[in-house]
Amino acid sequence: MIADLEKEGFMVSTEPYAHNVGQCYRCKTDIEPMVSKQWFVKIKPLAKQAISAITKKKTRIVPASWEATYFDWMNNIRDWCISRQLWWGHRIPVWYCGDCGKVIVSTADPDSCPGCGGASLKQDEDVLDTWFSSSLWPFTTLGWPERTPALKTFYPTSLLITGFDILFFWVARMMMMGIYVMKDVPFKDVYLHALVRDEKGEKMSKSNIDPLVMIDQYGTDAFRFTLAAYTAQGRDVRMSPERIEGYKFFVNKIWNAARLTLGNLADYDESAPVAAPDSLPEKWIKAKLNETISIVTRSLDEYHFNDASAAIYNFIWHEYCDWYLEISKPALYGKISAGQKQATQKTMKEVFGTMLQLLHPFMPFVTEELWQALHNSDEHSIMVSRFPETNDTQENKAAQQEMERLMEIITSVEVNLVEPRGVATGVVGATKIFVPLAGIVDIASEKTRLEKELAKVSKDLEQSSRKLANSDFRAKAAPEVIEKEEAKMKDFQKKYTALEGALKKLKEISV
Ligand SMILES: [Zn+2]
Repeated sequence: MIADLEKEGFMVSTEPYAHNVGQCYRCKTDIEPMVSKQWFVKIKPLAKQAISAITKKKTRIVPASWEATYFDWMNNIRDWCISRQLWWGHRIPVWYCGDCGKVIVSTADPDSCPGCGGASLKQDEDVLDTWFSSSLWPFTTLGWPERTPALKTFYPTSLLITGFDILFFWVARMMMMGIYVMKDVPFKDVYLHALVRDEKGEKMSKSNIDPLVMIDQYGTDAFRFTLAAYTAQGRDVRMSPERIEGYKFFVNKIWNAARLTLGNLADYDESAPVAAPDSLPEKWIKAKLNETISIVTRSLDEYHFNDASAAIYNFIWHEYCDWYLEISKPALYGKISAGQKQATQKTMKEVFGTMLQLLHPFMPFVTEELWQALHNSDEHSIMVSRFPETNDTQENKAAQQEMERLMEIITSVEVNLVEPRGVATGVVGATKIFVPLAGIVDIASEKTRLEKELAKVSKDLEQSSRKLANSDFRAKAAPEVIEKEEAKMKDFQKKYTALEGALKKLKEISV
């Protein structure tokens, strides 16, 4: 070629040139292109139907933002090369006649050539692309090509859960094949879940957050709940050991609440008729539970797992534990009436059981254990119990408002220890509250406790601010370490101000 170019006077220059030659990923032999015959699927007609199935909402992609990507791929799709030169896989259903050269395509193995009647047939040695075989999954797993009861019952399935990275490779191909072979979409909903990353944004792997190590350290329930809590649609899950630890505390909280609940149910006689009507806390907690069931159910239907887990978390921690268990103590200790005690026990058992059922999909282990303890039997698993349903008769706006007002009053008194000597006061709307503290609070020992705590926080604060003021630390530490330290200092400052305020008020009272 060089000689020819030079001869004609077309050569400008020659120079050494390094270029990229592909190599076999196993044996590193240079790969040279070779033109060969391959089998292709004419894909446009299949893609057209798979596009319209989504536009017509026969199948829904969740989150819907992925629909645009799907359409983009499907509209620009090119004929699909489906033959592979491998040893394993589904073989291409094509035979060649050794006598007349006819190409025979058949779903059943042919015995003789339909052209010349000859019997020297040879099957194509290529196999199908893995994704071709995978695209048949929704119906081959149900017994296709037989019309099995399973196929009739479960095709199309309700939901496919997968990662967005195989939306095209797998989901789109299943859509096309399902519509072509079964004349119907393979699933109603496709839920594309998030990728899990660590706090720096790196994909989760054994080198940063090893799930097995996390589970050993914080428990399976805490780990699973963290995943649900941070799975906001369309966003990656940012995992960190601190977040998982936070939900380990939640498991502890549930365990402690269970001990208190079960302890108070020890003498509960379920068969006796309830003698007292529901009191305000009963009406309120039932209404709140009903509201929670509604949010959890709706969120699960829409695959908003983080909203569902947040609702159940708030109910257990801030409504059942913080308020209901506390406010029920007088009734449970028999200080109101025997009838009231029994009514409270009944509500407590019902609410606690329903709460466990709602939490079960997120924390399967602790809920199973407590469910069996609650029913004093291991005969029935929580897994096969019916998921809670809302009940309109439990709605009670009036009780909710009344209870919220009561909660506001109680909270206001706690933070407003001022003015008249030996009396705690609070103001809620037009109501001013006075609570005499004589005999309730030992002011002197409370003062000592607060002073001790203040001294400790003051030391923490000083240490933290000294660290942050150190230019060496700022230069060398990773940004997230500095951020953490800054958050810590802010926390100390808040604590310091709160303690200082409380101490000042206490001093005013005790003057
Ligand atoms: Zn033939």
